Amino acid sequence: MDDRKRLLERAAELGEAFLAGVGDRRVFPTATAESLRSTLGVELTDRGEEPMAVIEALAHDADPGLVASAGPRYFGFVIGGSVPTSVAADWLTSAWDQNAGLYASSPASSVIEDVAAGWILDLLGLPATAGVGFATGATMANLTGLGAARSAVLDRVAWDVEARGLIGAPPIRIFVGDEVHTTVPYALRVLGLGGATATRVAVDGQGAMRADALRDALASDTSPAIVCAQAGNVNTGAFDPIGPIVEAAHEVGAWVHVDGAFGLWAGASPELRHLVAGIERADSWTTDAHKWLNVPYDCGIAIVADRRWQVRSMALTAAYLIAADHDRDPYDYVPEGSRRGRATPVYAALRAMGRNGLAELVERCCRLARRFAEGLAAEPGIRILNDVVLNQVLVRFDAADAADVPAGDARTRAAIGVIQRDGTLWAGGTTWHGLAAMRLSVSGWATTDADIDRSIEAIVRCARSVA
Ligand SMILES: *Cc1c(COP(=O)(O)O)cnc(C)c1O
Repeated sequence: MDDRKRLLERAAELGEAFLAGVGDRRVFPTATAESLRSTLGVELTDRGEEPMAVIEALAHDADPGLVASAGPRYFGFVIGGSVPTSVAADWLTSAWDQNAGLYASSPASSVIEDVAAGWILDLLGLPATAGVGFATGATMANLTGLGAARSAVLDRVAWDVEARGLIGAPPIRIFVGDEVHTTVPYALRVLGLGGATATRVAVDGQGAMRADALRDALASDTSPAIVCAQAGNVNTGAFDPIGPIVEAAHEVGAWVHVDGAFGLWAGASPELRHLVAGIERADSWTTDAHKWLNVPYDCGIAIVADRRWQVRSMALTAAYLIAADHDRDPYDYVPEGSRRGRATPVYAALRAMGRNGLAELVERCCRLARRFAEGLAAEPGIRILNDVVLNQVLVRFDAADAADVPAGDARTRAAIGVIQRDGTLWAGGTTWHGLAAMRLSVSGWATTDADIDRSIEAIVRCARSVA
């Protein structure tokens, strides 16, 4: 027992030491896969090793290959750190080791999840009666929402897809914006709806779906249809006009699924809520808690307005599973059985932040993104490609001659390479509307004005060094 106590205390100490230094280390490590394998790739022994030695070695040997994405100057993808309360709750979740899939296997985890679900609906402005499932991430949340959609639209033409599958089923028309996130076609593919069958609807200059183009594409046809809208374009942060999209779709009985992996959190801010106007009238939604809510991986959230479709498409129905004497079994809402209590860090984070704390987190990231954009745009040779409406900034390094696209692409890619190697911050590259660009996403609670200024200085310095 003493051993266990020492082991857990040491792990907490090592975790805390990592976090204490995460703002000072190189953001992306220099370790190679080869160097990491040379220390981590030990021979597995027959007799096992001393537990404390294993934990010490793990912390020591992994360290050179850790990315400081929990720190204040990681701007790649839309990652965000973890607020300390959520890390602490995540440690408790591991210590408790509950199977959170069933009420019967963990009443506490089940009720925590239910309470967190209610808070999420309230904060995001979604219907209080909606079904909420906690999945690994937005990819699986998209799969859940679209699975419910598949069920509902086929039921309207008297086809039970859960029983009969898609073989011989009436066709479903699917519509996505031309800048749909890759995980939506992926989810469609896994659901048997085809990853390349969707009609791609025209978008505006910022990548938001045009509602008029959707209306034309729907063509007053009332056969089964699913519209996949997006709240938050991964490059620009742009929002599809959800209200007009829902209106056009519902006129022909189509289902509207909204992928708002990070953008849905705009609904938690009085300042930004206008971006998601009409969102409550959609049929299903995806968001990630591990992105902007800043809880540890893995935590996506799948929400369905009429929970019957979510349960019908996702519930496990094996006879040995104990029937509920309560409202809700968590595993009925996601394509999973046994799983960790991933709603527990969400519960703790929300309780610690409160409504105002969450709104402040979201608004601060957006304010810092604008500071980033303004600071960078002041440098000759740096251009901001997008309207910074949220937390995303697209940067292009095309010197004086923006018309010379190949030269601008080469310079942009070179600058991204120098910036990544410099280590002050980390940002990834993308191609947007045919132009190479660097993508900055401000999504972490730990980022301050000083971090943005230090990052601007580093980017400008690196850009100047690129011939
Ligand atoms: C990140 C993201 C996803 C995928 O989320 P995961 O949590 O990585 O599964 C889907 N859609 C959008 C818009 C995203 O930004």
